[in-house]
Amino acid sequence: MGKFKNHIDAADISKYREDSADFVVVGTGAGGGIAGWVLTEMGYEVIWVEAGPYMTAEDFRDDVYTSMLNLAKDAGATSMMGRAIVTYLQGSCVGGSPLINSAIVWRTPEEVVDEWAEKFGTGNVINNRTLEYAFEKIEKLLNIHPIEEEILGGNNLLFKEACEKMGYESRVIRRNTRGCHGSNRCVQGCPFKAKLSPDVTFVPWSLEKGARVYSNCRVVKIISKNRKATGVEVVFKERGKENYRPVKGRIYARRGVILAAGAIDTPHLIRKSRLQGDSKAVGKFFMAHPGVGIGGIFDREINISLGPSQGYESPHFRKGHHFKMETIGLPIELLSARTPGFGREFMKRIENYNYVAVWDSYVKSEAHGQVMSTIFGPVPKYEPTKRDTEILIFAIKKMAEMMFEVGAKVVFPGIYGIPEEITKDQLNLIDEAEPDPRNLLLYASHLFGGARMGVDPRISVVDLNFKVHGVENLFVTDASVFPTNLGVNPQHTVMAVSMIGAERIGESAR
Ligand SMILES: Cc1cc2nc3c(=O)[nH]c(=O)nc-3n(C[C@H](O)[C@H](O)[C@H](O)COP(=O)(O)OP(=O)(O)OC[C@H]3O[C@@H](n4cnc5c(N)ncnc54)[C@H](O)[C@@H]3O)c2cc1C
Ligand code: SF4
Repeated sequence: MGKFKNHIDAADISKYREDSADFVVVGTGAGGGIAGWVLTEMGYEVIWVEAGPYMTAEDFRDDVYTSMLNLAKDAGATSMMGRAIVTYLQGSCVGGSPLINSAIVWRTPEEVVDEWAEKFGTGNVINNRTLEYAFEKIEKLLNIHPIEEEILGGNNLLFKEACEKMGYESRVIRRNTRGCHGSNRCVQGCPFKAKLSPDVTFVPWSLEKGARVYSNCRVVKIISKNRKATGVEVVFKERGKENYRPVKGRIYARRGVILAAGAIDTPHLIRKSRLQGDSKAVGKFFMAHPGVGIGGIFDREINISLGPSQGYESPHFRKGHHFKMETIGLPIELLSARTPGFGREFMKRIENYNYVAVWDSYVKSEAHGQVMSTIFGPVPKYEPTKRDTEILIFAIKKMAEMMFEVGAKVVFPGIYGIPEEITKDQLNLIDEAEPDPRNLLLYASHLFGGARMGVDPRISVVDLNFKVHGVENLFVTDASVFPTNLGVNPQHTVMAVSMIGAERIGESAR
């Protein structure tokens, strides 16, 4: 039994089953959600297949542990392979990563669009005109607007004040929300249905029009014949019987299989199904925006738990130094993971939760990694370069300066070799940090590449029609098609590019 009309919870399926539609879309996140909606609107029969559950506002929990178990890939205990530890997070639920994201919206920077056109030949399809059309449409549909000042809360307002004092360009964040209460629970799923992620927008809108969604249903292979995708092989996650005698099924696609399983799972599925076609680049050119966060303790209450999870940002260093600064209202469990120390010392710092502010920065990294396919599933291999690390250390210093400017007593720089806690007169110690990524507490939630778009199959996986080079009826519309990373928050670009892609796929299938 599903929760809605046309929702099928695969946990209730106990024997082999088959189904079919015009298009099968794998994944219901930023890319898959909008692609399925576009094709439904064009009159096609669409089935989404989603590995995670269909959770709604009533199911969301305040505690991060349960939320991650329910909503994140591998419960959020995920890290990339490499010398440095780069933890990452991805949604695994109907709604995908947007269900747990902070709803920050940025249009694609023009210089990125130009670089894609120049180096990868994508200009006829992805250009400032086609993107403008997609952005305008999405911005209306998802009520994208700047956060109302009255719900900003202490952490965001403090950041604003710091930027003003330092003379840094800053602004209130634009988000895809309606009726946000500033409850700082975005990562646990919005309990007020205020965040307009695909689970409350594109998916239910399409279900009403006849699309179907299988939740708790993992695609394990793309079925094909003579280099033409014909459907997907799935495993139903039987209720209470995870990893035990999996129940299998097949969902056939008359016109196409659209992969939108994210930058890690999409290339893995292509490779695992031996459908690389003419491409030599599956799983290669995997990219991220690795980030760092710093905490500061103040002598007045900040009340970090009030306000939107991320409410203020500074693009001041984006162009010259390739990093962007934001606030981040970590829930206490996540703040604990970021707070240094043990025992009494640790408890003393955590007792100051209401006096803590946390801000973060991520870099438009120059590093390229790869997604490897192992018997345990896909594993991303990735390591920021020395230049990326230098930028992140510089970003830590800038954020620390900002915190001291607005009255921090101490900050936690989070750099190995530097004291766990520093005061204003110790700021220069940060300059002594070794630019080795192993010295930083790195985190990434913006992931790209692995099935990138381009005209040359030696360096790309999909062509300008979003079709895997040399394979019929197999398409990709998610962050894995990005030829480069962006340097700004990606969900808007993912949705816009996927919208353009789905329209092209739908047109060519007529
Ligand atoms: C915690 C967090 C905060 C973020 N904050 C922001 C933000 O504020 N603003 C912003 O612009 N971006 C943000 N991002 C990034 C943004 O959400 C992603 O870039 C975007 O969602 C990527 O879209 P996607 O379609 O490629 O993948 P996803 O949205 O991750 O969707 C992939 C979907 O595919 C499903 N899937 C995977 N494998 C299979 C399989 N084998 N079978 C079936 N289904 C499968 C997954 O379960 C998932 O639902 C954030 C991300 C995270 C995790
Ligand atoms: S801050 Fe709270 S109310 Fe606003 S979108 Fe996030 S979870 Fe929803």
